[in-house]
Amino acid sequence: MTLLNNKTIVIMGVANKRSIGWGVALAAARQGANLIFTYRSDRAGEQIQKLLQDSLPDSEAQVIHCDVTDDASVESAFAEIGQSVDHIDGLVHSIAHANVEDLQGEFVATSREGFLLAQNISAYSLVAVSRAARPLFKQGGSIVAMSYLGAERAIENYNVMGVAKASLESTVRYLAADLGKDQVRVNAISAGPIRTLAAKGVRGFNDVLHAVEEKAPLRRNVDAEEVGDVTSFFLSDLSRGITGEVMHVDAGFHIVGM
Ligand code: NAD
Repeated sequence: MTLLNNKTIVIMGVANKRSIGWGVALAAARQGANLIFTYRSDRAGEQIQKLLQDSLPDSEAQVIHCDVTDDASVESAFAEIGQSVDHIDGLVHSIAHANVEDLQGEFVATSREGFLLAQNISAYSLVAVSRAARPLFKQGGSIVAMSYLGAERAIENYNVMGVAKASLESTVRYLAADLGKDQVRVNAISAGPIRTLAAKGVRGFNDVLHAVEEKAPLRRNVDAEEVGDVTSFFLSDLSRGITGEVMHVDAGFHIVGM
């Protein structure tokens, strides 16, 4: 399949092979996309190079540093991308962070600092990167962000990140309203729980996986490549009529009551 042939896609937020961003990379590569990666830590940068060598040896993907808490870093990453390609067609935001102490116990205990940190990295960053990427979407394009059910429901321990995801989902709608006139679409995927580095920070994460296995209509969890396949759909022209949408890729868990 070649849904993304001749499309250049920037993927932000691969830390290792378990990252949802890497599942997206594999799915998008299968659809023929040219990939560009951004990373924050040196370790993540090395991991991406290794993953590319091992799994996508024919890819000539660029790997560029970008810390989304730093406007200068965001600007310089997209300037670097603009020097190597004429335009981009897609951007995948697969980035979130909160303090571990804010992902357990009572939400009411969240500090101002912890609240703002989660909002900054997990929600505001989508605004900053969309603005920096905008001039590169010369032929229109598609931005996809990763959310979770904790945006809609009070899920034990998810706490500050649930509020950040609510903010992210609203950010998707406001960005979609702004960027639509450039033919840039903005959507989010609300992914089911997947065992990744970020997920390890959430207390009781195994219980969440078990609950989905027991109660979701499909009676199983989803994996990163299933999220990647739907992301490829959002990045492709098949979804050209959709913007400002949040789509659940969670084996149907969000429809279930008690
Ligand atoms: P992950 O730890 O593999 O990825 C998180 C990424 O965020 C890492 O690559 C990390 O380097 C990056 N990041 C953190 N701070 C950054 C900064 N300042 N600048 C740039 N990058 C930064 O975990 P993941 O689960 O693959 O998370 C990817 C996205 O998917 C996140 O938005 C997460 O909330 C979302 N999500 C995850 C799950 C899950 O269960 N794993 C479910 C739904 C949504």
